[in-house]
Amino acid sequence: MPIATVNPATGETLKTFDALTPEEVERRLATAEAAYREHRLTSFADRRTLLERAADVLEADVEDVARTMTLEMGKPLKAARAEAAKCVKAMRWYAANAESLLADEHPEPRDVEDSGAVRAVVRYRPIGPVLAVMPWNFPLWQVVRFAAPALMAGNVGLLKHASNVPQTALYLEELFLRAGYREGCFQTLLIGSGAVDGVLRDARVAAATLTGSEPAGRAVASTAGDEVKKTVLELGGSDPYVVLPSADVEKAAKTAVTARVQNNGQSCIAAKRFIVHADVYDAFRDRFVAGMRELTVGDPMSEETDVGPLSSEQGLGDLEELVEDAVAKGAAVLCGGARPDRPVSGWFYTPTVLAGITEGMRIHREEAFGPVATLYRVDSLDEAVALANDTPFGLSSNVWTRDDDDIARCVRDIQAGGVFFNGMTASHPGLPFGGAKRSGYGRELAGEGIREFCNATTVWYG
Ligand code: NAP
Repeated sequence: MPIATVNPATGETLKTFDALTPEEVERRLATAEAAYREHRLTSFADRRTLLERAADVLEADVEDVARTMTLEMGKPLKAARAEAAKCVKAMRWYAANAESLLADEHPEPRDVEDSGAVRAVVRYRPIGPVLAVMPWNFPLWQVVRFAAPALMAGNVGLLKHASNVPQTALYLEELFLRAGYREGCFQTLLIGSGAVDGVLRDARVAAATLTGSEPAGRAVASTAGDEVKKTVLELGGSDPYVVLPSADVEKAAKTAVTARVQNNGQSCIAAKRFIVHADVYDAFRDRFVAGMRELTVGDPMSEETDVGPLSSEQGLGDLEELVEDAVAKGAAVLCGGARPDRPVSGWFYTPTVLAGITEGMRIHREEAFGPVATLYRVDSLDEAVALANDTPFGLSSNVWTRDDDDIARCVRDIQAGGVFFNGMTASHPGLPFGGAKRSGYGRELAGEGIREFCNATTVWYG
């Protein structure tokens, strides 16, 4: 895959970049190691000042970087601005909270006296340069949610970003330098995916985090396993959106539209499978389909646009194939089901709702990475939970109900990294984020996220 900015709204290649040579990669690894030696010794107060400055720099750049993101991967400009603003908040949150999240832990003397200790302490120490392999869909947020805690913990970052967002990737390196971080604390490696293995095997790289597809996760985790290096994997999802009889159907249907088409439908935590109880099925279906039909598809730079293009021709082709497979096997198209019926040069797809999904259809098991929803009708909570879990993925889930028994049952039984009631899944700095099953392992954000790349060191005093 060439490293290039290609505008998904037009298909035009705007700028291409050469991958780093092996010598340039080597220089950057050496710089990362040297920066780590210094950065690990800085105080929390110093790190806090730096990250707050980075937040200020980003805040001033929101409009420019939002335009870069929209140009490179096609999300509506208003969503790109919101993404950048969310990054500013996350930086400030980690700047304010990292020290307490990583504070020494003091086990009770009675819990350690058998070990002969007079006292013992658990200290969270940094581990070194961490490689972040990141996707294009939230090109700023995915990186910041790794970088902010990593830098606050005393680690340094090496970013291998997706090949279609090189300008956003380069902006990120520049952002941290402008904020005053020493050279090497955060570097972008413009490399293809084939060069990741070599970087990860380098002894100076301590660990890796990957957000992306299952094949990419498998490749990185295999190498890391071979090298006995820690990984965090945030992979795909096919989140269920369950609507039960006591739900506020109006609100559930309105939110469902946003939950499905956010980021042009290309979000790992987008709701993808809509599982609706028979008692409210017709009411939900009618409102949901009407909402999907009303969306404005078009130029992502326009303030009026709700849904822009898919990020690549390949992505559009993959989505089309999933829909065609389902329709050929008997799925009903309630709206959409094709590219827009007007001449457009970019990679647009009309918001689509499919019903009558059966097990043999690929879309029942595979992730639809675009504005395509599947609608299922169920007769009981048991059936809803079974269907919610009938997927290889387990990223998050959404349930609409006002019944406490339903809530308790779903918290207990839905196999996912999150269960969101009466609202849509979103990530927040203060809440851990991550998946179960083939959606990956490990957590980002909150205390869990910052501790993933720390050495929880037992300090024992005899
Ligand atoms: P992708 O192809 O896996 O790309 C993600 C990153 O991995 C890119 O930087 C890519 O580099 C790199 N990569 C690809 N193959 C690799 C390999 N064999 N070895 C090392 N690196 C490799 O992902 P995508 O299809 O663009 O992104 C969409 C996927 O990401 C979806 O499945 C989505 O659900 C998932 N995702 C998950 C989360 C989450 O938090 N769980 C968040 C966002 C997206 P190149 O660009 O150079 O190929």
